[in-house]
Amino acid sequence: MAHESILVVEDESDIQELLRFNLAKDGYRVQCTDSGEEALRLARSSPPDLVLLDLMLPGMDGLEVCRKLKSDSRTQHIPILMLTAKGEETDIVTGLELGADDYMTKPFSPRVLTARIRTVLRRAATEPFDEQSPVKVHDLAIHPGRHEVLVSDVPVCLTRTEFRVLQYLASRPGWVFTRYQIADAIHDGDAMVTDRSIDVQIVGLRKKLGEAGRYIETVRGVGYRFKESR
Ligand code: CA
Repeated sequence: MAHESILVVEDESDIQELLRFNLAKDGYRVQCTDSGEEALRLARSSPPDLVLLDLMLPGMDGLEVCRKLKSDSRTQHIPILMLTAKGEETDIVTGLELGADDYMTKPFSPRVLTARIRTVLRRAATEPFDEQSPVKVHDLAIHPGRHEVLVSDVPVCLTRTEFRVLQYLASRPGWVFTRYQIADAIHDGDAMVTDRSIDVQIVGLRKKLGEAGRYIETVRGVGYRFKESR
């Protein structure tokens, strides 16, 4: 049984009830509110282990709540899982860039949601990403020190930028990144990296990786993700 606490910010009462019921059943301590202002107050006075945040709220909207949580030292470490409606890709991108960890599009199945919550909580508990440690995922081995990528033990020759994009995505499998986040992470001072040029890098990467190129998934309207290994 889980013991973590979850703050649910959702103004639709039937969804809020459904969430409360299912999360409590899974052993989480659940607190619910239908207002962004109240959510901030609760998160500051007793920080939960995770915030489940609906983006469409009356009054202060979810993105503003996210921005405020991430800019306050008392709450910036709390992982945020956004709840969004279909067609809110622009808001999803904004939320991820503000520091939200992941999102779920409504309607969702409670089972899928609790799996996603476990993943986000697990990520929050793991060590921060270390640029120098080798990454092994699926049949890929990435050695930052040697600047080397092996697919099923066969070396693949990548450009410097392609290597950094791959290393960045593969270091956090299952995690969605926007083009801007990728560009920001691989930017190394001398070269301009625009978000459109990220698409070009991905095309090149997939081609060079061959079969393994399928691990780089496009998340329509949002960005890219390295396929999670199970
Ligand atoms: Ca809503």
